[in-house]
Amino acid sequence: MTKINYTNAAIYNHAAQTFETNRYMIVDTDTGKIIETGEGKGPASVDETVDMKGKYVMPGIMNAHTHITSIPTYWWHDGEEDRHSDSREFNTMYAIRNMQDAINNGITYIRNVGAAYDIDMEIQKMQEKGMIAGPKVMTSGRAFTMTGGHGAGSGHEVDGVDEMIKGVRTAMKKGVDNIKLMVTGGVLKNGETPDDIQFNEDEVRAAVVEAHHKGKTVAAHVQGVEGVKEAARVGVDTVEHAFNIDDETIAIFREHGTTIVPTMNAMYAIYEYGENTVPDWARQKVIVNIEKHFASITKAAAAGIPIAMGTDAGTPYNGFESESAYEIQLYVEKAGMTPAQAIDTATINCARAMHVEAEYGEIAPGKYADFIAMTEDPIADISVIQREKDVYQNGVNVHRAVMTIEDQQMKQAEMQVAGR
Ligand SMILES: [Zn+2]
Repeated sequence: MTKINYTNAAIYNHAAQTFETNRYMIVDTDTGKIIETGEGKGPASVDETVDMKGKYVMPGIMNAHTHITSIPTYWWHDGEEDRHSDSREFNTMYAIRNMQDAINNGITYIRNVGAAYDIDMEIQKMQEKGMIAGPKVMTSGRAFTMTGGHGAGSGHEVDGVDEMIKGVRTAMKKGVDNIKLMVTGGVLKNGETPDDIQFNEDEVRAAVVEAHHKGKTVAAHVQGVEGVKEAARVGVDTVEHAFNIDDETIAIFREHGTTIVPTMNAMYAIYEYGENTVPDWARQKVIVNIEKHFASITKAAAAGIPIAMGTDAGTPYNGFESESAYEIQLYVEKAGMTPAQAIDTATINCARAMHVEAEYGEIAPGKYADFIAMTEDPIADISVIQREKDVYQNGVNVHRAVMTIEDQQMKQAEMQVAGR
């Protein structure tokens, strides 16, 4: 067993809603887990001591809504579709690149909610065996959709209760961790709207019953409020997107313990950067819905409904680099959360929504030592999470903050002052 004492750090404490200074954490690199935390320098009887002076340490970012096989550049130029090949090979290559981007940017756990050819299941194995870099992966395989429904191109089309039961059982036989259902229409498919109901209540219920029988979770893509209510009423675990919820919806969420995964940056990025590159039919749906969406998340946050951070990474201008941290900033700026509440959405709340809170989501004994170290306090300025940072996975450093030229010059000047 190799014990490392990361000492002299300011460590985020979810219960205290702040970073606590003068803290240490001891990790065991064999298990990858934290074995002790506390105040002060901590014991010297370890194999290695790492001085974290001036570092703000929080759990690694968790993202509950990604599409690892997609690229965030759009496929529409001068009115012509110009999409990358939909082949298994291209999808796999993008997934491996996205995995590397994610870990370099401090994202240490993703829940993938829809992958062509079930590629996320193979990516999960490659990551676990250490063959590729990247966050840990919770899989859904191909998303379920009705015939011709949202995501039908790469999804699994099923109709009726019997096909849903067979489909969900087959996915679980293959080994998916989560079931993803497209319950309403969405933005990035022409000829449908976010308000369209696609799967009916019986179909959604059948999926929920089957998944829950095997202890698996269900994530429902639902945008318009009627779809949100339908999915929440029959007990899906997470509602993805949620554009215009009302008081009745809040009451249904409370009754069923539903968590919302907002993906606000998916909307924001198309709104902000998509003119002339994202097709008008898609961008118009964003323009009509973005304020309703942000107001909806604000309302849910104020009502104390659990919110788990997710971005829909893989949609236009919304990738696997600093976008997850920007989503966290949007929760502060556009959904009325405190910086600590926003940090919780990307750590403890994700862990709970993904049913892995026994081992993830906090800096505490028994949890995996997946964490990020920053040089500034995110409670004072939530945007610092987007900057370069040191990333640790299973207790060891996997990415060092790349210093800008200005940073390097400043550091040199400091060393000269110190006479070194
Ligand atoms: Zn999505």
